[in-house]
Amino acid sequence: MKFSHKLLLWTTIIIALTLGFSGYYFVNYVFETSLEREVGQALDENSILRFAFETAALNVPVKYDLLQDSSVEQIASNLETSGQGSGRLLRISDEQKQTIYASDGFDTDDELLGSVQENQYSYRVIWSNEHYYIQTGSSVNALGRTLYLETMRDVSQVFEERETGFMVYRRLMILMLILGIAIMYFIASQLTRPIRNLVRATKRMTFGEYSYRAKQVSNDELGRLTQDFNHMSEALEQTIERLEDEVQAREDFVGAFAHELKTPLTSIIGYADMLRSRKLDEEKSLLSANYIYTEGKRLETMSLRLLDIIVTKKEGAKLQKVPVASLFEYLRSMFLPNGNMEFVFEYDEGYVLADPSLIQTVLVNLLDNACKASEEGGRIEISGYSEEEGYRFTVRDYGIGIPEEELSKITQAFYMVDKSRSRSRNGAGLGLALCTEIIALHESRLEIESTLGEGTSVGFLLPEAGKEAAYEEIHS
Ligand code: ATP
Ligand code: MG
Repeated sequence: MKFSHKLLLWTTIIIALTLGFSGYYFVNYVFETSLEREVGQALDENSILRFAFETAALNVPVKYDLLQDSSVEQIASNLETSGQGSGRLLRISDEQKQTIYASDGFDTDDELLGSVQENQYSYRVIWSNEHYYIQTGSSVNALGRTLYLETMRDVSQVFEERETGFMVYRRLMILMLILGIAIMYFIASQLTRPIRNLVRATKRMTFGEYSYRAKQVSNDELGRLTQDFNHMSEALEQTIERLEDEVQAREDFVGAFAHELKTPLTSIIGYADMLRSRKLDEEKSLLSANYIYTEGKRLETMSLRLLDIIVTKKEGAKLQKVPVASLFEYLRSMFLPNGNMEFVFEYDEGYVLADPSLIQTVLVNLLDNACKASEEGGRIEISGYSEEEGYRFTVRDYGIGIPEEELSKITQAFYMVDKSRSRSRNGAGLGLALCTEIIALHESRLEIESTLGEGTSVGFLLPEAGKEAAYEEIHS
């Protein structure tokens, strides 16, 4: 059952019960008040008749000591007709509660007389001849006799009014219920609108529509729930996008890896097959063996690089205070013996917060790339400057440069702008991927700028450590 229908059902039940009870109470209250009034009037009438009977008895000529039954009948008959309207209903009984006189239509039992005490009034409500009556009873003392006077007052109208009251109220209640249900239906559907919106959003998201957001229609708790739901969907969407990207990157990586494996392996298998199946002369055998060796070496480099990436990712960086001078000294000792290039080293003294061996790997890779991209004897500048945001390392060459559209791809594993050129220089396309990982571990990123045919500059920022300490050390 829908929540709005439950709300509607319960509200209807509560309205019906409230209206029912209050209506019943109200109509009954009116009825009881009217009946009480009628009882009061019936008792008053009895009291008046009793007084009138006693007075009339006093006026009876004193022939006998006791009041005769015939006189009683006479007085009762006079009293019956003396009232206004169609006549009273009364009954006079003697000491033994035997009827002496009874009006026509006064044909009820004498049960009430049993409870009549001297100088006290009794009454009861009875149903007789299709009418409701208030029957009253009292004792009358007349000329030495104790008689009983009973009256009957027709109160059917009070009962009819009660029935009419119930009927009118029933109709009113049905009308109010219909109206209440219509209003509550509208209110319930308005109140549950945010829930319906959330249900719709959940369904859409279940079917993969992660960008769908629930419409916020109120500012209450449900509105806040919608807001939180939308924030959650946003976070979910981002996580799913990231995971999809990661899966895609992994698939690309596996594809590229398989492809990169295939090329050297095809050469190795081809040359090895030639060596074992044919008798080659010494020169060709040597050539074949050389191909197998160089391709094997390439495979070895590739696997070592991949291993480097995996180990770096796994082990993370052990940051420490590293003097910049030691990094530049290391580069000098590695690259200066290579007399083919013109290396220019320029740097500010200082300290950086870094993992020294990882940063050495980055700088060596960047220098290696710069060498591979430059002509023999080309100029390569390696600089380190202390800036406001940190310490910036830059490797600049004046080589072939990189086309603008390739700039974003060269940090992907196995990506090479010119594959044959890179392979001929023993490249595996993994250097920049490794550098990107390492720099990310230092919470920084590679900044690559390049102009085709003019050269490339690759830089990155590292946090500077203890400027003052460095100053002290240099001057001590
Ligand atoms: P590896 O570094 O694994 O030996 P690689 O140098 O080919 O091989 P990366 O260092 O990842 O691989 O570089 C990716 C590609 O980006 C290179 O193949 C090259 O095409 C291009 N590239 C990188 N640095 C430069 C540069 N300084 N000038 C021009 N092209 C560059
Ligand atoms: Mg490289």
